[in-house]
Amino acid sequence: MLITLLQALLYILRFSFGACIFSFLNVVIYRLPTGESITHGRSHCPGCNRTLTPIELIPCLSYLLQNRRCRGCKMKISGRYFAVECFGGAAFLYCGAFFGYGEWGILSLRALLAFTYLGVLTVIAFIDWDTRIIYDRFHIIIILLGIAAVWLSPEHTLPDRLIGAVIVSLPMLGLALAIAGAFGGGDIKLMAASGWLLGWRAMIPAIFLGLITGGCYCIWMLARKKMTRKDHFAFGPFLALGLGAAFFYGDEILRWYLAACNI
Ligand SMILES: [Zn+2]
Repeated sequence: MLITLLQALLYILRFSFGACIFSFLNVVIYRLPTGESITHGRSHCPGCNRTLTPIELIPCLSYLLQNRRCRGCKMKISGRYFAVECFGGAAFLYCGAFFGYGEWGILSLRALLAFTYLGVLTVIAFIDWDTRIIYDRFHIIIILLGIAAVWLSPEHTLPDRLIGAVIVSLPMLGLALAIAGAFGGGDIKLMAASGWLLGWRAMIPAIFLGLITGGCYCIWMLARKKMTRKDHFAFGPFLALGLGAAFFYGDEILRWYLAACNI
């Protein structure tokens, strides 16, 4: 009984840790495009500018305890903050379950790499959604993760990674040059950096998942007349979705697909 309770407590702690990290990523998503300092300045309500008290900074819980509103000005707090924090907690547990925990019950290095990548993808997706910009610093972080992965995931050889870097990004670059505005430079760089991290096999399902989900979104927006054919939309969030799924299941999806086609 005591062991079960302690284990439950450990999982709650792990979830909370992941939620705290993603709570900080919420700050990055919100402040980076506005030029505000990420490390300085206490968190404040965007409505009344009131500095938030510690109780209002508890990831996931404070949103529910405050009934989704600011305690000062009663402005509705976007559910996105809550969703990102919950996703962070779930991502931490998922990476641990997938790649294992190391000593002291904290994430193994491979799980930590996966968790970091999911964090970077989340920031990229939301900033791109808000501003249609993908900052180069995130591509650099992904390349650094890829360098760490050379040791941590040796099943992907160097040629595998180098082909991964160009297999999707080069055709995208060709399309962007042929059709102005087909893809943004940030999207292409994201696929190049991620290909270096994931290896070429995972990149095929990644781009297909991105195109399918992005295409569905486009059709839905066109059908609701919220977008015209000439409008551009942020493709980064859909690429991030495809890349996140492909990071864990890319090789399997490709193998399954090839088997289903009898190739
Ligand atoms: Zn307020």
